[in-house]
Amino acid sequence: MRLDVVSLAPEAFAPLQGLGVIGRAFAAGRAALHVHNPREFATDRYRKVDDEPYGGGAGMVLKPEPVYAAVESIPVLPRRRVLLMSPQGKPLEQADLRRWAADYDQLVFLCGHYEGFDERIRALADEEVSIGDFVLTGGELPAMTIINGVVRLLPGTVGTEACLEEESHSALLLEHPHYTRPADFHGMTVPEVLRSGDHGAIARWRSQQQQERTQQRRPDLYARWQAQQQQQ
Ligand code: SAM
Repeated sequence: MRLDVVSLAPEAFAPLQGLGVIGRAFAAGRAALHVHNPREFATDRYRKVDDEPYGGGAGMVLKPEPVYAAVESIPVLPRRRVLLMSPQGKPLEQADLRRWAADYDQLVFLCGHYEGFDERIRALADEEVSIGDFVLTGGELPAMTIINGVVRLLPGTVGTEACLEEESHSALLLEHPHYTRPADFHGMTVPEVLRSGDHGAIARWRSQQQQERTQQRRPDLYARWQAQQQQQ
């Protein structure tokens, strides 16, 4: 998969290449990252990428010309999706990551800064994505979050495909608890059933734990799961 990022802070993306399984996916050629700085496409002698908002108000606005020029310089693959990072976008979900990983060969990320984008930059995007109801200084961490989530879904990145199917948010229920050795740690013991060797009992316990956890921590997801169960 080809990943293109349009960002005023290209250096922010360097650590991705050394980040465990994600870094290895880049090294193995499963994904290739290209970062484009709009400042290099600014035509005035100060390489200006921001300007004051029409109508007045606090903060500076990212100018359209350098962002358009940066995007137009990027090669276009047939199955491409342009994602604009914005706290006003659709809240990111695991289903979005799965869709982008499966359906596209190229993802382009538009990272905002300052007060945000000139409104006309939005016309470049297929989707606007938010990583949550809070505001960061720039779109770099949101873009890296999505890159991490998409690249780990590419075939071969995570050793066992089953890990991807069983984890939280792959369906509507959160994952069950995990334990490893020792069986007793500071008086906290591993549930007996997990040491019983009874695979049926283990599966039932895990399913029960998933439901309880989801009901306690995410009643919104639990309600959706219950509705889904009733339809089946
Ligand atoms: N003034 C904008 C608003 O109220 O919608 C926020 C601008 S924010 C300071 C600068 C940039 O950071 C945004 O253009 C966006 O690219 C990025 N950003 C900040 N929070 C984000 C979030 N929760 N999800 C995705 N991108 C975010």
